[in-house]
Amino acid sequence: QIVYLNGSYLPMMESQISTQDRGFLFGDGVYEVIPVYQGKLFRFDAHIQRLKNSLQATSITNPFNDSEWLEMLENLVAKHDWQDQYIYLQVTRGVQMQRDHLPADCLTPTIYAYTNPLKPVVDNIIQNGIKVVSLDDIRWLRCDIKATTLLPNVMMKLAAKSQGADDAILITREGNISEGTASNTFIVKDGNLITPPNSNEILPGITRMVIESIAAEHNIPMIEKNITLDDLNSADEIWLSSSTKEALPVTQLNGQAVGSGKPGALWLQMREHYQQHKQKFIES
Ligand code: PLP
Repeated sequence: QIVYLNGSYLPMMESQISTQDRGFLFGDGVYEVIPVYQGKLFRFDAHIQRLKNSLQATSITNPFNDSEWLEMLENLVAKHDWQDQYIYLQVTRGVQMQRDHLPADCLTPTIYAYTNPLKPVVDNIIQNGIKVVSLDDIRWLRCDIKATTLLPNVMMKLAAKSQGADDAILITREGNISEGTASNTFIVKDGNLITPPNSNEILPGITRMVIESIAAEHNIPMIEKNITLDDLNSADEIWLSSSTKEALPVTQLNGQAVGSGKPGALWLQMREHYQQHKQKFIES
């Protein structure tokens, strides 16, 4: 497996960074995850725009322009023959010898990217969905930045696992649903697809955006509004979305069946549309 690190393509086992990298010491970095279908980067423009937003919000220098990013990532993808892949891409503020919360001027960002085979979601999940619990969202107030600082997400994922669930849906201090630990949340109620509006409390998911555009194209009524735990409890369907999982059906919430307890009808429809959307993209 070949990775990209600071200008070089090299075997993963040989890629090393300094222990003084601010990414290692502070989680001082941002990242992206980009799906690749048959060699083509899906929604590249949206992912790079979100990366630029994350870099700008954190005052980390963007080391490349858009075409340099694309060239580097396409080179990386071309070194692997997996049909579908997903790229993990990370930029940290760089190496600083003296540990100090305040970053030194003119640091050189550390750029790291690697790619993995992207496997289809397993059949069991397609047939039966996943189990989630609701948990307090213990994260910060800039969840719109895709920061590598993921300790709260790790803790919440562990808490979900200890309760026998696959994942968690997070409830903000105001009592609204924000998102999953690594996904956006949707509910279906009376035929409407509902998702929380973009804000500082959620990541503006690219898959969420794709689902919105598919919904518009197929006249599926879609509403952006706050969702409470009561709304979640009375939802006909619940979905989680992310680049590597697309839309996943949630069939159990806090030990109770969601709707019929099976993946819902609108989810099945969306899954079909999503596969067609990907196919059109591959052929475009
Ligand atoms: N929200 C969080 C916290 C995430 O970590 C992710 C993706 O990993 C998402 C939402 C979904 O974003 P995307 O659809 O761009 O993968």
